[in-house]
Amino acid sequence: MVASEVRALFAVASRPEVVSLAGGMPNVAALPLDQIGDLVKDVVSEEGPAALQYGSAQGDPVLRELICDYMTLEGVQAGPDDLIVTVGSQQALDLITRVFVDPGDIVLTEAPTYVTAINTFAAFQADIRHVGMDDQGVLPDELDHALTQAAKAGRTVKFFYTIPNFQNPAGITMTAERRARVMEICQRHDVLIIEDNPYGLLRYEGEPQPTLYSQGDGNVIYLGSLSKTLSPGLRIGWALAPSAVRAKLVLAAESAMLSHSTFNQLVVRRYLSTFPWKEQIKAFNSMYGERRDAMLGALTAMMPDGCTWTRPEGGFFVWATLPEGIDAKAMLPRAVNERVAYVPGTGFYADGRGRASMRLSFCYPTPEQIREGVRRLVGAIEGELDLRDTFGPAMNRPTEGSQAPTPDLP
Ligand code: PMP
Repeated sequence: MVASEVRALFAVASRPEVVSLAGGMPNVAALPLDQIGDLVKDVVSEEGPAALQYGSAQGDPVLRELICDYMTLEGVQAGPDDLIVTVGSQQALDLITRVFVDPGDIVLTEAPTYVTAINTFAAFQADIRHVGMDDQGVLPDELDHALTQAAKAGRTVKFFYTIPNFQNPAGITMTAERRARVMEICQRHDVLIIEDNPYGLLRYEGEPQPTLYSQGDGNVIYLGSLSKTLSPGLRIGWALAPSAVRAKLVLAAESAMLSHSTFNQLVVRRYLSTFPWKEQIKAFNSMYGERRDAMLGALTAMMPDGCTWTRPEGGFFVWATLPEGIDAKAMLPRAVNERVAYVPGTGFYADGRGRASMRLSFCYPTPEQIREGVRRLVGAIEGELDLRDTFGPAMNRPTEGSQAPTPDLP
């Protein structure tokens, strides 16, 4: 496990005068906090002794039932015994890796992919291999090729990790046709799929796509989370897994933490059973949709020629790529001077790629702040372009340690 040299920069980036397009923090201030406060109070007054007691490592059974209702919105049919509650979906990633990965095993991921998944796989010494994407999701031929090559070399591929909806960091959603091909390829190679879907219900346009889980035959572990649709502070996620795998995940969870926070589970149980949470998700979607529009509008209006970016239908992130010869990581100090922050693309690859790209998140700043942030970002890019045009790309500052992971970010 290694910390990153850009951690220090992020301390600077969190200063109030800096517009942060870096972190993926949900805007929880938009929740009706008084009502949540009442709900917490009711948990203590009506269920205090149970809420303050140990619980199980699989998670509260009533909460698991409510999570199954929640998942029907994604088209996932499951029963409460099919899932394990986890401390956010991050813990599910940790438990799955702990259970499956021996040092040197191959783990396939999209390129780019979620930074903290990379860090988790790396912590268990997985050999992380990336599969490219286009605007329809992962490239099936590359996935097939990677699996064929691994088999030829006698190497074990433990799983393919994918974020099919509004991918972190690329903002891309896998099309239905791609999902069917990915399923066919993974089934043919007998490879497990980890489907990580924390953003699926945060859709601002277009139609929902079928989950991989619902098309699988027991070869998919599906991860869900309430971090983006309720609160990351409550740390409620889950993994839906075949029974043999689930039993191992429960054992791993017991050894990691003995029991979940019973208190948090009862708060969420009450929220899901008494609160109009579907309306709350709609409210989040209209707020985040407006912020996405602000970001896409500002990028279209202001970005210099040669820049490209993705157009997410939901979620929190846009992936932008800079003109030839500009290095997003080297540019970060200049951007912070301009009082804007982003995450350089290198953190989202295990192999040092991504220098030309950056993740821009639109979930936390207001639309006005987003427009101002993009204006400042364009100032930084123009400064780098001047430097490039005067001295050539070679004069871009060296970026030592570009292989070091970016700090764990949501
Ligand atoms: N997976 C992805 C793709 C994410 O973006 C995140 C949070 N940023 C997580 C998992 C972990 O979320 P949590 O543990 O809060 O559920």
